[in-house]
Amino acid sequence: MECEQVIQRLWAYLDRELDEATAREIEAHVRECLHCGPHAEFERRLREAIRTSAQEKAPTTLRERLARLLDQNPEEAR
Ligand SMILES: [Zn+2]
Repeated sequence: MECEQVIQRLWAYLDRELDEATAREIEAHVRECLHCGPHAEFERRLREAIRTSAQEKAPTTLRERLARLLDQNPEEAR
């Protein structure tokens, strides 16, 4: 499988929406590919962060970082 195809299917793979054969191909590719490996890891962490914040159990650091992005906290600027 080409890198491009792997990247295109990455979210479906992480959502476990792919058939087993395709999922296995992507898993094998991601494990060995220096390009797709870090990419898959990043997407996985991003999804975890989104899921965690959706459950309102985001770690303080992440919540602070998001708050800073959304609304520049004046106390942080001091
Ligand atoms: Zn690749």
